[in-house]
Amino acid sequence: MSDLSFLEGVNQTFDRAVATLDLPDGLAAKMKQCSSVFMVRFPVGFRGVYKVFTGWRAVHSEHRLPVKGGIRYAPHCNQEEVEALAALMSYKCAIVDVPFGGSKGALDIDPRDHTEEELERITRRFTVELSKKGYISPSLNVPAPDMGTSSREMAWIADTYRDMHPHDINAVACVTGKPVTQGGIAGRTEATGRGVVYGIREFFRHPRDVEKAGLKGGMDGKKVIIQGFGNVGRNVARVLSEETGAIVTGIVEFDGAIVSDGGIDIPAFFDHFSEKHSVKGFPGVTYVEDGQSVLEHECDILIPAAREGQITTANAPRIKARVIAEAANGPTTYDADQYLREHGTFILPDVFLNSGGVVVSYFEWIKNLSHIRFGRMQRRFDEVRGAHMVELVEAMLEKPAPKALASQLKKGALELDLVRSGLDDSMRGAYQAIHERFWSTEALPDLRTAAYTIALEKIARSYQEMGI
Ligand code: NAD
Repeated sequence: MSDLSFLEGVNQTFDRAVATLDLPDGLAAKMKQCSSVFMVRFPVGFRGVYKVFTGWRAVHSEHRLPVKGGIRYAPHCNQEEVEALAALMSYKCAIVDVPFGGSKGALDIDPRDHTEEELERITRRFTVELSKKGYISPSLNVPAPDMGTSSREMAWIADTYRDMHPHDINAVACVTGKPVTQGGIAGRTEATGRGVVYGIREFFRHPRDVEKAGLKGGMDGKKVIIQGFGNVGRNVARVLSEETGAIVTGIVEFDGAIVSDGGIDIPAFFDHFSEKHSVKGFPGVTYVEDGQSVLEHECDILIPAAREGQITTANAPRIKARVIAEAANGPTTYDADQYLREHGTFILPDVFLNSGGVVVSYFEWIKNLSHIRFGRMQRRFDEVRGAHMVELVEAMLEKPAPKALASQLKKGALELDLVRSGLDDSMRGAYQAIHERFWSTEALPDLRTAAYTIALEKIARSYQEMGI
């Protein structure tokens, strides 16, 4: 028997979580399904022919507006997948206290089949279709990057929307993940990956969870395997190697994997992968042609950061990692999740762990609505005040303050510092709430279900208070 689909898995987890809550009859049914799904087929002509593209935008819960969620460009995506992703967005936003509902979009396309110019035309046309039906707007529905899209596509979307709504002073807030020079925010590109690392770091601050996972100590020396070296995976690798003592011992990509017990030189691999778009030919490591098999190698933490459905009942029995940190959406099927839980693997669930992207998207949206860069008004003020404090302390002690401490005190926060601080705070707060909920009752089998109960309670409260 094959594993449940992505959407079936999300819905099963929903049912398991709802069963532990006391909600009024019928409310759960409202909260489970997407409230609407827009499907569009549109033609774009190039190279002397017309090609018809199919896209979707699903809106899950509208208990808060706008609804929020990425747009992915991927071959063979479908409506069910988009609905599952939209549902995850509703829960994710609630878990990290981002006041948005959930949405998701997809275009059935392999971006590698098209030139940049063609992709721009396709993206602009898709944006027009979404706008005509109200599926993009700063107040109703705000997309962001996901698989196969980046700040480049978000800039095209923002520009197209602004052209269509020239009198909307907030038009640029119709999408997040834009380049900083086009109304984006510092730290958005790295946000999902950095949030994943902050989430893992918080896990290591909870000895009870670390012990349950069968690990000891902190992140120092922990061996990590990452699947996917796209936006999320590469930023996880970078932040892990720059800011923690963890060692990346394996990287899995679409054309194989590289492994090295002593650790992969991440900055050097960054350059290699950016140039070659391949793991092949990177010196000083072992190349493994069957990349997928590397998911089963010995390691402390396995970080699937590629796409859904990568850990199934077919490979779960051979997974040796103690912790699976789900950077991708839905990388573990429902059935594999159950198997792994029963066999002691500790899973940091996607619905919490990869929410860093939407947290910083929220900051970007606020920045766009307020039309001012974060920190602009107080940075110099803080620097002057910090300098005065250092002077005062030095005068009282009659000796210079330690240099490192003095320069920290004299530093005013840049936008990037504030974004990272807000991201860390969101990830830490959310983990602590999930941890407390999980350990508070025997009824919750894992962090995923605990996280869902927190999300569903908040969404339910919101519907009940405003009146459906
Ligand atoms: P991306 O397109 O930038 O990168 C995906 C990478 O995975 C690519 O390098 C691709 O070659 C690789 N890949 C694809 N299939 C693979 C396979 N079977 N084995 C190994 N490698 C494979 O996408 P992304 O934005 O990094 O998103 C990755 C995942 O994270 C998705 O599940 C996405 O929904 C989720 N996510 C992304 C964001 C974001 O801000 N971009 C936010 C939250 C969640």
